[in-house]
This record gives sequence, structure tokens and C-alpha cells, in this order.
Amino acid sequence: MMTNRVLNFAAGPAAIPEAVLKQAQHELLNWRDTGMSILEVGHRTAVFQDYLAEIQAELRQLLTIPTNYHILFMPGGGQGQFFSVPMNLIGRTGQADYLDTGIWSHKAALQAKPYGQVNIVASNATNPFVMPKTTEWQCAKDAAYFYYCPNETISGLMLYDIPQVAVPLIADMSSCILMKPFTVADYGLIFSVSQKMLGTSGISLVIVREELLGEALPITPDIFNYQKQAKESSCLNSPPIYAIYLMELVVKWTLQQGGLVAMEECNQAKAKLLYDYIDNSQFYYNKIDPVYRSLMNITFTTNDEAKDTAFWQTAAKQGLMGLKGHKLLGGLRASCYNTISIGDVKRLIAFMQDFAQ
Ligand code: PMP
Repeated sequence: MMTNRVLNFAAGPAAIPEAVLKQAQHELLNWRDTGMSILEVGHRTAVFQDYLAEIQAELRQLLTIPTNYHILFMPGGGQGQFFSVPMNLIGRTGQADYLDTGIWSHKAALQAKPYGQVNIVASNATNPFVMPKTTEWQCAKDAAYFYYCPNETISGLMLYDIPQVAVPLIADMSSCILMKPFTVADYGLIFSVSQKMLGTSGISLVIVREELLGEALPITPDIFNYQKQAKESSCLNSPPIYAIYLMELVVKWTLQQGGLVAMEECNQAKAKLLYDYIDNSQFYYNKIDPVYRSLMNITFTTNDEAKDTAFWQTAAKQGLMGLKGHKLLGGLRASCYNTISIGDVKRLIAFMQDFAQ
């Protein structure tokens, strides 16, 4: 039945494992013997509340989430978190540190401004392909938190080292959350959109340390209030059930593949293949310092806009989709999240070889 599927290298909404889509298709009309679709199940029913507990347990297993962290399914996607984070967390001191490493952290800092004082620790605004040096960071004296985006999806710039800061660390892991194992306890709060590595759009997964809750600004609307959502199991209003459901299927699939250890091994191998090919090609170029090259969003260019356009257009005709770079930076980008296999990357490289010729 699943014929004519293309290879989807888009940054998000991104490819979803075929096994997940098949399962969703299989149980669309009758979910878990309820006689109805998951799309029709009420979020306050016992069956759905049990399901929420199940996905939380699976997430705890996959990401090794300690018990003093809440797992929330929050509305408003990634950009909803750009204002939810300051609304909930900046109140303690009235100011926060932001590391500006690209378009997404830059936008987050801008959206925090109405809620407190935003201190830009360092910025690469003049060149999105370099990472500001740690020695140049200037942290505020009394920040409520330090915010950063470890993987800037648009430029393909990744900070592998965890910032060593004295205040709670907040990370937008939207394009790297399932890339490799990491220690949740190093962070005060982690969030990720659902449409890249966790299924389909509609929610942000938020993992937040219990002790950070309780100081939301009074203007915080209830549905964006972490503490109130935690109390209501993320069902303060009608949640996007299908996005939660697809996340559960993806989390289960990831566990079945061997969890984050297996994902990292595969992701390292895929990125090495692609970067090695680019570096040796003399036709394609990646502009990022090798130390900060993203394992997930691999950007490249022929250094010729017309050739870049011809590249993604020709690729699309051959079933390799989503390779056009983001409109703000141009160029090309192959997003290689967990659904993309080594074989898929080899297929992309074969196309790149043909096109270069
Ligand atoms: N953060 C990062 C790292 C992103 O790549 C994106 C783009 N999807 C966002 C936030 C914004 O997400 P959304 O479109 O769900 O608001």
C-alpha cells in the first residue's frame, strides 16, 4: 500500500518512520478496542489518561528523566515556548541570559523581552556559521536562567558542550532531542517541538524540574502555565490528541530501535558520510567550523545560487525532497533525523555525485 513514498530530508515537519505511519493507519478506525478512532477519544476519559501515563513512562525510559522532572505537552509549538519560558521562569529575578547563536535563539530572546530584562550573553548575528567563543560570553549577575539552542536548525550549527553556568539551563532541543543520550539533570528545562523528531506538529514536549515551578508572572495565561498544566496532566484544555499519539508511537519505535545509544551511532555514521563527501567533493561546501557542525541539519552549497536551485529541483524530481535551504539563509540543507537511514544518506550522496558531474 505504501508505494511512491519519497525520501524526505525536510527540517520539519520531517519524515516519520514508515512503521509508525502504518500503525497509525492500521488503528485509525478502532484504537485499542475502543471502537472509535483516537481522534474521537475524549481527553478526560480513563483510557486516555492511562495512555498519557504510558507515554510519560516511555519518555522517562527513553530519555532517562528523573522523577523530580515534570513531562508536559504544551500548546503553541516551538514559538509558544519562546514566551512561555520567560512568563514562567523569569519572575524569580526579573532577568535572563540568552546565548544568540542563530535565528531560533535570536527569536526566543526577542520574544522574552516583554517579560523581563534580556541579557544577550554573546551573539553570532554577523556570521551565523560561527559559534561565539565561551571566553567572550558575558553573563548577567543575577539571571533567573540561561537559555540556548544547542542545534540551530537553519544554519546547521551545533553546540555539543553543555554551557557551564551557575543558573538553571534552558535548552530548545527541537532539532536534536532524540539525537543522542544526554543527562536531563544538567538542565532546568528542555523543550522540543513535535514536528521534527517526535511525530507531527501541534505540541511542545516540555521537561521541567519541579523546583522551578510556581513563580509564573501573574499575566501568564493558564494554558501556558507549566505548574497549572502539570497539575492537570497537560489537559487543562483539549490537547492536540493526535500529536500526542504520534509522539507515543515514535517514542516506542525509538526504544525498539535500541534507544538513544543506537540513534547516536547511526547519526554519527550518517553525518560522517555526508560531511566527508562534501569536504572531498570540490563542488559542495559546508561553511561551519567542523567542531560545531550539526549532526542533524547538514547545510551545504555549491556557492552558486542558480546551481543550488537546480540541485533541489532536480533532486525533488528524483524523489529526494526537502533539500532546499531555509529562505533566510539560502543554500541547501539535508536534515538527517532518526527516520533517515544510512542507506538514505548514501542515496543522497549518489545523487550529489551525479549532479556534480
Ligand atoms: N526552535 C527550533 C530549534 C526550530 O527549528 C523551530 C522551527 N521549527 C522552532 C523553534 C519553532 O517551532 P514552531 O514552528 O513549532 O513554532
